[in-house]
Amino acid sequence: MAVSHSLGFPRIGRDRELKKALEAHWRGELDEAGLRVVGRQLRAAHWQLQKDAGIDLLPVGDFAWYDQVLTHSLTFGVIPQRFRPDAGQPTLDTLFGMARGVSKSCCGGAHAQEMTKWFDTNYHYLVPEFSADQRFQLSWEQLFEEVAEAQALGHKVKPVVIGPLTYLWLGKAKGDEFDKLDLLERLLPLYGEILGRLATLDVQWVQIDEPILGLDLPQDWKNAFERAYHLLQHAPLKKLVATYFSGLEDNLGLAVGLPVDGLHVDWVRAPEQLPLLIDRLPSYKVLSLGVVNGRNVWRCDLDAALQALKQAQVRFGDNLWVAGSCSLLHSPVDLQPEDALDTELKGWLSFAVQKCSEISLLGKALNDPESAEVKAALAESAQVQLSRKQSKRIHKPEVQARLSAVTAADSQRKSAFVERIDLQRERLQLPAFPTTTIGSFPQTASIRLARQSFKQGKLSGAEYTEAMFSEIRHAVQVQEDLGLDVLVHGEAERNDMVEYFAEQLDGYAFTRFGWVQSYGSRCVKPAVIFGDLSRPKAMTVEWIRYAQGLTSKVMKGMLTGPVTMLMWSFPREDVSPEVQARQLALAIRDEVVDLERAGIKIIQIDEAAFREGLPLRKAAWQDYLDWATEAFRLCASGVQDQTQIHTHMCYSEFNDVIESIAAMDADVITIETSRSDMELLDAFEAFDYPNDIGPGVYDIHSPRVPETAEIIKLMTKAVQRIPAERLWINPDCGLKTRGWAETEAALVNMVAAARQLRTQLA
Ligand code: GLN
Ligand code: ZN
Repeated sequence: MAVSHSLGFPRIGRDRELKKALEAHWRGELDEAGLRVVGRQLRAAHWQLQKDAGIDLLPVGDFAWYDQVLTHSLTFGVIPQRFRPDAGQPTLDTLFGMARGVSKSCCGGAHAQEMTKWFDTNYHYLVPEFSADQRFQLSWEQLFEEVAEAQALGHKVKPVVIGPLTYLWLGKAKGDEFDKLDLLERLLPLYGEILGRLATLDVQWVQIDEPILGLDLPQDWKNAFERAYHLLQHAPLKKLVATYFSGLEDNLGLAVGLPVDGLHVDWVRAPEQLPLLIDRLPSYKVLSLGVVNGRNVWRCDLDAALQALKQAQVRFGDNLWVAGSCSLLHSPVDLQPEDALDTELKGWLSFAVQKCSEISLLGKALNDPESAEVKAALAESAQVQLSRKQSKRIHKPEVQARLSAVTAADSQRKSAFVERIDLQRERLQLPAFPTTTIGSFPQTASIRLARQSFKQGKLSGAEYTEAMFSEIRHAVQVQEDLGLDVLVHGEAERNDMVEYFAEQLDGYAFTRFGWVQSYGSRCVKPAVIFGDLSRPKAMTVEWIRYAQGLTSKVMKGMLTGPVTMLMWSFPREDVSPEVQARQLALAIRDEVVDLERAGIKIIQIDEAAFREGLPLRKAAWQDYLDWATEAFRLCASGVQDQTQIHTHMCYSEFNDVIESIAAMDADVITIETSRSDMELLDAFEAFDYPNDIGPGVYDIHSPRVPETAEIIKLMTKAVQRIPAERLWINPDCGLKTRGWAETEAALVNMVAAARQLRTQLA
């Protein structure tokens, strides 16, 4: 019998119960016992949901109080000195301290562990910190407790752990220089111990996640895989090594040869590897095929998935397992409560609960192909696929015609930067080291309240507009008083830089409860691209025009770019990301042109997610970079030479993509640099970045007010790399999370620094 299993289930809860409980606990309104009750209820509910959907083997170990990588760090005793309890085992407070930092008032304070993206998802994990003398010691009982908890509820479970190589890969060596891989020998006995403990709990299989098998691995890491799994070979339990998010490619031989009992692969991401896998994986092992997409919200094309499974079934028979492509952590919990979607659209979607039913149905289709249930489900799935293929809501001839009429010239400014910039300088008349900000000003409680009241109908459209106008007046007044050179309207009317635009575009849909964990208690509700995208009418022009009318200084228009819109949405699967980016580019291009027509002289198009779109495998980078830069230029190139295009990116790893950033051909780019002490500018040693640039001079993530002297020092560094006439002065990113007092204090110092630099230069 083919087994249906799930690699992991979302932990936040249908109604974000975990988020609410965590935040109440952190506020001191829910004690630890109360928090633990919520956790236990959620786990019980999620196992039951999966079981009811027909999943045979339920995951345990997918629940985490904050992050699954952090849970592993506690389990292994990888607890940096600054968080280590003086005596005894770590507690939940230790865990939350590592995740969120400990304030000065307690124990001298400790900064949180670093957080970074989990592969190419929008989930963020806490980076383990290793020291050269790292010891590993079983220090956390959660996994064993939860296995027992599930069994007490009568479930058949499969514990899930992150594999030793992936765990080490994700961490960071701190202190003295050393190779993380040297820690493997010390870490492995702990896996032996954990598997041994699980074996006493009446568990048969363990899932060991090694997603780094989908990455470009250095040779010593490949070798380490063989070594590690040979050493683990004699540990009890059957081992299923799980890979996901990309194909195995050059690691396929390595993966199929590991001395384990089964291999899970992501068929959704890499269907092309199936024939080779069927050929090379010994048939006495289990092949788990991830055919239901755990990363998106669309219903599975059951027929296509079944075709793939049947190919494998010929060779693997009962050793073929059916699963989601990856943990369902990355999809929303349950479609059922969505009451604001129309029936047709809702009929195209599937969230974690529904995905479990799809997995189970596919298992039944393998085991009992003639059953009425299977036949009905396949017929319904075929009907859904057909209705999407033919839907006029999805396929818009006018959007497609416009896209095919695009020529190379459309994504090219009229003249080269060197010519444009003269015209722009002439027109803008800005001083040397022009000062500006990145777009948003503090999103105060009163702004959020106004938006909420408007949504609830307590505030009329006119009243809401007036409330936002009043925020804009305030922002403009403050900026004039500060003496900033290029002003912004402050983005008070925007809830979120993607959702705000998505709501105004055709082809986007919105869920009410489609939350996905981003990190800790933070959840995001990405908009869903379901059809060809277009802009029915101007989106920002009235706000920006109003703001410009309040001042004689230059007002910068503010938009979100096509790549970022795409990366932070649930995309379509029936057309390529490139096509979706180009449709978005054309829609935003219309807005850029309308802003220019309204007299706006500078337009900023944010591409915060540009770098995170990079594929996991380096061989795929250039293709991505080509279409992503092209999409940006397509949206930016409808304007005259004298209109200045800015872009903004908030991170500092530029070295490997700097040429593509230059190829975007924005007249000015503002970037984050202050946290790395302008280290970023090293990228400019090797590559002569041609256009204007504003390296961020202070960190907006903290309320700390930078001194004028610090800013001058940073800019003095910048001047050594980039000609002074091409430098702008601005913060690292938008100011929406800050308060007004610290914002004004910081900007006073920033403007003072610019003034001093100007006199120094003169
Ligand atoms: N313009 C946006 C802001 O200032 C940019 C946000 C971002 O880069 N993440 O908030
Ligand atoms: Zn930013």
